[in-house]
Amino acid sequence: MTTTPTPEQADVVIIGAGFAGLTAARELRQAGLKVIVLEARDRIGGRTWLDDRLGRPLEMGGTWVHWTQPYVWAEMKRYGLGTVQSPVPERAYWWAAGQRHEGTPDQLLGEIDEPNRKLVQGSRNYFPQPFSPFTSTEIKSIDEVSLPDKFIELGLSEYSRDILESFWALNFNGPVAGAAFTQALRWVALTNGDWMVNFEACATFKIQGGTGKLINGIAAGTDVRLGTTVASVNYAADKATVSTTDGGTFEAGYVISTLPLGALGAVEFEPSLPAQEQTAINEGQISKGIKVWITVKGEVKPFVALGSAEWPLNFAQAEYDQDGNTILVAFGPDTARLDGADKAQVQVALDLLVPDLEVLDVASHDWTNDPLARQTWPMHRTGFLTESLPGFQQQHGPLLFAGSDFANGWGGFIDGAIESGLEAARTIANQHLA
Ligand SMILES: Cc1cc2nc3c(=O)[nH]c(=O)nc-3n(C[C@H](O)[C@H](O)[C@H](O)COP(=O)(O)OP(=O)(O)OC[C@H]3O[C@@H](n4cnc5c(N)ncnc54)[C@H](O)[C@@H]3O)c2cc1C
Repeated sequence: MTTTPTPEQADVVIIGAGFAGLTAARELRQAGLKVIVLEARDRIGGRTWLDDRLGRPLEMGGTWVHWTQPYVWAEMKRYGLGTVQSPVPERAYWWAAGQRHEGTPDQLLGEIDEPNRKLVQGSRNYFPQPFSPFTSTEIKSIDEVSLPDKFIELGLSEYSRDILESFWALNFNGPVAGAAFTQALRWVALTNGDWMVNFEACATFKIQGGTGKLINGIAAGTDVRLGTTVASVNYAADKATVSTTDGGTFEAGYVISTLPLGALGAVEFEPSLPAQEQTAINEGQISKGIKVWITVKGEVKPFVALGSAEWPLNFAQAEYDQDGNTILVAFGPDTARLDGADKAQVQVALDLLVPDLEVLDVASHDWTNDPLARQTWPMHRTGFLTESLPGFQQQHGPLLFAGSDFANGWGGFIDGAIESGLEAARTIANQHLA
């Protein structure tokens, strides 16, 4: 005779041990609640992962932080962590109007500046309070506008369009077709309308000791069950029941899902999620690109390169000196165009971007085909902001969604993950202690 195991009880079950889940767990534990975190991977950190590759610790996922990001900045202060700066580039390469161009990094920034300022000039009008994205009712009228729509409207030259398209394919880590103009405006509003500060936020300052150091600090003392994959969440009653693929069951007054939008489709929700949320899950995010670390021969002077949005890699910068060689970090907008573990393929892709570099070794993680992510950093499609995000931000009885995909401010960043984890924890703590 088989017996059904007794469900394990907690005040709150949190699904996912990334920055959102572990921040929420710490806050709720400190409020005196019993919390269990269920994590499918054999490690914490989620889409941040400081791993030993190419002879040194390398960030396979989220990396850069910035002083304009209040939540991650406060956490770094709390755990006594400063920043380490990426090398300041001395040369720049870019591709536009069918040609490679070479100059100073300031020249490249200058080429991006004029068209990009025109593109994002309304950011603070549409997002007057960047951490409250729904303040202006005007956003509804532009949420179906895609970046390519805007490029046409701006009447850009071929040269400027090539540069701008690649710049935003880099930011979206995906092809810009279907990429929401509102998402671009949200990003830039967070740096008070200044796209250059925003660009600085994306690739300049790393966490001292890496993301691993920060996430370990946040996780300390939390009950995390690694290797535990959630199969279903029943939130029909005033309690939630969470079932795992290995037959485990957990009952809790609240459950917080911190899964990326792309990974939500693998979990069965009972009752089914509302239509707008389900549509968003089916469509997924735009960001299905790739990040690759590349060791190239010799000591290469720091550079930055922006290629065509059509290439397998459209951005690279020199990041570390390593035993007389140089480690580059590179991004491409479509993981289907490049196997980041294939040295020969990466050499061909890098040759397009920068002349005369010899690839010695490569390291990458394919987040887009990773069933626990199915995307890189969350970047929205047209319509997501006004049609789907409000639903995810609402409480569904005992079920709440948190995570970088559903943040108010720096959605897409570590900062947004922490913000949304704090928000979900505060909602629950207020109700639980009321
Ligand atoms: C390549 C890359 C580069 C990036 N660069 C930057 C950057 O430079 N700066 C920056 O701020 N941000 C960056 N980001 C984004 C940042 O890493 C994420 O926004 C943030 O880490 C997301 O945290 P989260 O807790 O919301 O989600 P996640 O970290 O994805 O956590 C969700 C967790 O849920 C787990 N999970 C999934 N399905 C299940 C299941 N069924 N059962 C149990 N567990 C499950 C996952 O394994 C994961 O651990 C980058 C991301 C990537 C991928």
